[in-house]
Amino acid sequence: MTLNPPPRLPVQAPLDVESIRAQFPILKTLAHGRPLTYLDSAASTQQPERVIEAVADYHRLHHANIHRGVYGLSQTATRLHEEARAAVARFLSAAEPAECLFTRGATESINLVAASWGRANLKPGDEILLSTLEHHSNIVPWQLVAEATGARVRVIPIDDAGDLDLDAYRRLLTPRTRLVAVNHVSNALGTINPVAEIIAEAHAAGALVLIDGAQWVAHGRTDVQALDADFYVFSGHKLYGPTGIGVLYGKRHLLEAMPPYQGGGDMIERVTFAGTSYAPLPNKFEAGTPNISGAVGLGAAIDWVESIGVEAIGLHEQALLRQATERLSRIPGLAIKGTARRKSGVISWVMLDPPIATLDIGTQLDLQGICIRTGHHCCQPLMDRLGVSSTARASLGVYNRSEEIDRLAEALEAIQASSRPRVQTADGGRELVYPAAVAESPQAAAEEIAEIFELLPDWPMRHQHIIDLGDKLPTMPESLKTEANHVSGCQSQVHIAARLKPGSRDIVEFLADSDANIVRGLIALLQQLYSGQRARDIMGFDAEAFFARIGLDRHLSLTRRNGLESMVRRLRRLASPLAG
Ligand code: PMP
Repeated sequence: MTLNPPPRLPVQAPLDVESIRAQFPILKTLAHGRPLTYLDSAASTQQPERVIEAVADYHRLHHANIHRGVYGLSQTATRLHEEARAAVARFLSAAEPAECLFTRGATESINLVAASWGRANLKPGDEILLSTLEHHSNIVPWQLVAEATGARVRVIPIDDAGDLDLDAYRRLLTPRTRLVAVNHVSNALGTINPVAEIIAEAHAAGALVLIDGAQWVAHGRTDVQALDADFYVFSGHKLYGPTGIGVLYGKRHLLEAMPPYQGGGDMIERVTFAGTSYAPLPNKFEAGTPNISGAVGLGAAIDWVESIGVEAIGLHEQALLRQATERLSRIPGLAIKGTARRKSGVISWVMLDPPIATLDIGTQLDLQGICIRTGHHCCQPLMDRLGVSSTARASLGVYNRSEEIDRLAEALEAIQASSRPRVQTADGGRELVYPAAVAESPQAAAEEIAEIFELLPDWPMRHQHIIDLGDKLPTMPESLKTEANHVSGCQSQVHIAARLKPGSRDIVEFLADSDANIVRGLIALLQQLYSGQRARDIMGFDAEAFFARIGLDRHLSLTRRNGLESMVRRLRRLASPLAG
């Protein structure tokens, strides 16, 4: 790590992507036997050898607690930690390192400002301006502080392309506006916001501005002084650095006036029971032993990014974004969400014709070794505005290459081509047939299912088997897809209608459905296990152990496991009072 800026390549130089890729050990690994195509850098970037080594070296050779030790090792650790802060200050063009506080990440940085500045400065009637594009981490902390202080959250709308409505912004800026908090780049749509303009207008109206730079710093140059940002936040793990480390930049006079966020060691000057005085910046906001190795890793990541040139990285990603936009636009039935004038390397879409749930798109791409993100991207208000519950999103990093965009597009075309229309069950008229028991008990059904799964050696084959089961699941009549039957906690739409079998006293049966094929397959498994079974046997069956036995615990995402558990809970809730 150095205090002086490392030499940078000229901006125009095309990146040598192959030599960059060679520095990322993870890119040499396989996913389901296929080369890894990592298109989820907006969630987290991968780490180059240099960062991994810097962290490992720190642990191997330099670890000690910082600030306190009089011995050389502690002083070296302190120096490395502070050199990382200097690298952050240089990277952001901050006036001084003390304005750059280490946090756990963008989320904690925003929470720090909301809790410390917000509680000290906001009063009833004050307004905080956010935008429809915000990540939950730039919404919920403000809602919490608004609730605590009587301030109000107001929202800058967007147009259909995903650009902020700047006229509406100007109208919303009033003497009541105390703070504007917007992202530099939208993680869900890739919109690059005109933050310099936003800041200038806010300042003219007397408001402060916090910029959430989580999705910007790895893709273009950041100059907090030129922007005149009051607060600027980002996370290390989206900048080729480790998780658990991030930054809050704040102007010195603002940070000095703010009360501490957390109390503890390292943030004090003098403690007595009569009262405590606080350490100067940055320590006032860094209570307790910090993430020293994380800071060292972040410093190394910044050095690494600067050695390539962040503008060069941005240009490389722009070329790939153009290719991806052009290529995905040619897929009939695929709708790109987010067509803002200026975008970073993020492309979001939904499949409308044939309709394919984003969860299925993500799961099927995974089997090809292609990692994308599906879901609401922690932007539920934005999803509501777009009229979708989720999108599929590919996001780019310095290591992505043109072939990977082709692979993605070809895989999407193949998914589309293999999609089969569902056999619709007629609504009304006929009496609905709830599935009868397939075995003597859930345990006996589980044994039969496990026998089949054990014949399927890998996840792609098991996944296909689950999809095949889902294909045979009759669709649920629309009349049963009520709010009461809706299952929350799933990434896809799920409904379940469970009942006591007519004429019986303790037999539970159910119908369920989802817009995602993978979930329909899981529902089919649940029906085999539970439908038509006695309440007592349902209560006695350990579903979690069974899912682990057939490998679902390792291959289902947390949200899908939660969804599965929600369905099991519903069935058990119905069964419990009948179990005797
Ligand atoms: N803001 C934006 C725009 C983001 O994309 C993210 C991460 N997805 C965050 C904030 C939160 O970052 P972290 O989880 O690292 O705190």
